[in-house]
Amino acid sequence: MLTGYRGSGKTTQLKLLCDILNEKGVDTDKLIEEKVGSSIHEIFDICGEETFRELESDIISNLPEDAIIISTGGGTLINPENVLHLRKNSLIVYLEADTATLAARIKGSVRPSLTGSPIEEEVESVLSERIQAYRSAADICINASRKPEEIAKEIVDFYNKGYGDPIWREDTVNTLLHTGIPEIEKEELKGLIRSHDVFLYGILGNPCLQSLSPVVWKILFKKYGMPAHYTWFETDDPKHLLKWAKNSGIRGLSVTIPYKEKIIPLVSEVKHDAAVIGAINTVLILGGKTYGYNTDWKGVYKPLEGAEGKIAVIIGAGGAAAAAAYAVSMRGFQTYILNRHVSRAQELAARFGAFAGPIEMLDSLKPDLLVNATPVGMNGDQNLPVPASCLRKGMRVFDLVYTPVDTPLLKAALVKGCYVIPGTEMFIHQLVEQFRLLTGIEVSTYEIREMLS
Ligand code: NAP
Repeated sequence: MLTGYRGSGKTTQLKLLCDILNEKGVDTDKLIEEKVGSSIHEIFDICGEETFRELESDIISNLPEDAIIISTGGGTLINPENVLHLRKNSLIVYLEADTATLAARIKGSVRPSLTGSPIEEEVESVLSERIQAYRSAADICINASRKPEEIAKEIVDFYNKGYGDPIWREDTVNTLLHTGIPEIEKEELKGLIRSHDVFLYGILGNPCLQSLSPVVWKILFKKYGMPAHYTWFETDDPKHLLKWAKNSGIRGLSVTIPYKEKIIPLVSEVKHDAAVIGAINTVLILGGKTYGYNTDWKGVYKPLEGAEGKIAVIIGAGGAAAAAAYAVSMRGFQTYILNRHVSRAQELAARFGAFAGPIEMLDSLKPDLLVNATPVGMNGDQNLPVPASCLRKGMRVFDLVYTPVDTPLLKAALVKGCYVIPGTEMFIHQLVEQFRLLTGIEVSTYEIREMLS
């Protein structure tokens, strides 16, 4: 399946690939035109983009079975439902070209501007909206600024050989076999050494073998029919792992302690929110590049939808507190970071335009929202991170600790009549965002909640 912005060469590649592979190809825009009896521009002009997108989704979900090569419009992958249909049994090829190349090609054709703006501006702005959807959904990304024959040859190589150099793949898997991963996982990985049509994903950390992420990801891959395998990358050398990743068919990483900060200088591109928070928990590997994101803050931001009030207090000043500080400030709260070691709170507060102080300051602040970003209350610890006397009726209390789900803080908060949000909500929402970034597929929070219950 070929995708990319207008001018990326999808139509040319469709024709070339059909000739080289001697297979049937279809262009989804052509199928829409045939079905409606009008040109794409007429459909846009008369019925509007929404109707066009509905027609497009209908075509995508009913593609002819004998069509082996598909070219689809540049906006198709924005709809995760389309990605879901296309991901099943397709290799999604993103034809990536720079703005100048795309603008020059569009100008040299009969295609009109979509927005009425100058072509360069239009390409720049529409592409910036779509590029994440392309990267998240794509299995491979090809530099489409080159000669059509070179591009076609690279696509055919992927089609025939799969992703990942066999020697690197074998080396990667053999290294994983010497870590403490479960025996059953070792057997599965051995079987994947020569399966170059299966992408590898995993959790990068040290230690990380206790993580349950592989269990959840495996269920999701199975459910969505994705030829992919999620494992544990427990290593003391993340730099080496990233080098392997680019060459051995590793497509995505969840990053955990102690690498969330250390990985920043090791990736090709750091997204703005991850740079501000100072931590990456998600890495997408595509087209020889590594892209770093932070989805932890979304895990705090999303469950606070509709949360009212002015003052938020975060207890703790580590990595989770940084993500929480970003999230609550995005929700418009005046933020106070209170910590055992006040200097750490001050350093964090300075980065987010927040206030800092000792935990004892909490009572005088009377916050509307309290977030626990310390490990207090975790795994049988019966302590509270703040005195119970500071908990007031109507206050919203979000405990980021999620083992156990009903922490001592949440139990005490319920007794006082607070609204409570368990740490599992952060885990669930950040995972939904991470899965979307690394696959292009939108999972519902309900689905993950069911899986964890
Ligand atoms: P971290 O970087 O090690 O920071 C821990 C913070 O907690 C530090 O500010 C530390 O204070 C404070 N702290 C530790 N023990 C304390 C105690 N006994 N009393 C008071 N303060 C204490 O850890 P992190 O990565 O931010 O993670 C913090 C917690 O968030 C984790 O334990 C985890 O349960 C939770 N978390 C949840 C999710 C989720 O998806 N729900 C995701 C990430 C993290 P000092 O600076 O004074 O040492």
